[in-house]
Amino acid sequence: MTDIQPFRHLYVHVPFCRHKCGYCDFNAYAGMDRLMPDYVDALERELIFARERHPFQQLETVYFGGGTPSLLPPELIARLLAFIRATFNVAADAEVTLEANPASTDEERVAAWLEGGVNRLSLGVQGFDPKALAVLERRTDAAQATRAFSLAREMGVANISIDLIYAVPYQSMATWLDTLRRAIGMGPDHVSTYCLSFEAGTLLYRRRAEGRVPEVETDLQWDQLDAACAELEAAGFRRYEVSNWARSGGFESRHNQAYWRCRPVYGAGAGAHSYATDGSSAWRWWNVARPKEYIAATPATRADGEELQPRKAVAESLMLGLRTADGMIAPAGFDDELGNLQKAGLVRRLDGRVVPTRRGLDLHNQIALAVL
Ligand code: SF4
Repeated sequence: MTDIQPFRHLYVHVPFCRHKCGYCDFNAYAGMDRLMPDYVDALERELIFARERHPFQQLETVYFGGGTPSLLPPELIARLLAFIRATFNVAADAEVTLEANPASTDEERVAAWLEGGVNRLSLGVQGFDPKALAVLERRTDAAQATRAFSLAREMGVANISIDLIYAVPYQSMATWLDTLRRAIGMGPDHVSTYCLSFEAGTLLYRRRAEGRVPEVETDLQWDQLDAACAELEAAGFRRYEVSNWARSGGFESRHNQAYWRCRPVYGAGAGAHSYATDGSSAWRWWNVARPKEYIAATPATRADGEELQPRKAVAESLMLGLRTADGMIAPAGFDDELGNLQKAGLVRRLDGRVVPTRRGLDLHNQIALAVL
């Protein structure tokens, strides 16, 4: 890699979870909490190594994702936050996000997060309906989610996002509407809504294959997405990306926008992916996935990687750019693909940009298929 653009975005993966949810195919593990101190040591070694090998400029965003970053004991997350500030130049107005599970959002932890500069919380609520939560095997309930949200707000977290999942077996239109309304009623600044996917290898996938969980009717799935659009838009949220809504006032996730705009992002931690570009070609690499092996491998944590030739790199940036409502300046060399997408009503041209239509946001997988 020569002349790669500097990293201004840092992702830190925390792979620990209290329990492995039945639908989850993230790089997340239950029953490994004893590794946390060694894991944080390893992260620090990787970050020092990364800073020596790669160009970093002032960080605009730092994102702790998982897994469940909120599970880290307050003293460990405080140490890690301080380490990142001491090792990198973190902009005074950087967006620093931490993904939190309501069950591990307590006063001591929120205080440590705020003290360490976390200014955005992404709360994994997923839903309020006990039946849907049971299918997802989430062990948190509506009361915990509400309590965690209020606590974070009262203690001063000014920017809170919540995640919700739809198209869950047994989730009716009525319970989804109730979930949306209760979520909006909490007063979040940002809402992510994800359509449940059945990923091979998960418990939920096996249970469906065995006929123990019913299929969700496609019509209901679309109606639920429609309802999310209607309810969130009526409450003043803008759908700025396929699955993400923000209240006005700059509450779009700056970190995730770095991914959608193909900006270089350094990913630290077990299984984390990094993306680098010189403005023409791009490189992607990822770390050893299992926490114990990751710890043993540090600081040389890379498992594998790939180079994207210029055309492939542009195709990816087009696919990702068309996830966002603002789209992107139409790149050269994709006239046929974009013409076909326009005919299909999935994109339109607007002031030199190509932007997805509502249908294009809903059916983004068709855009991806056409351009990749
Ligand atoms: S808490 Fe999140 S990351 Fe952990 S197992 Fe459940 S869905 Fe996966």
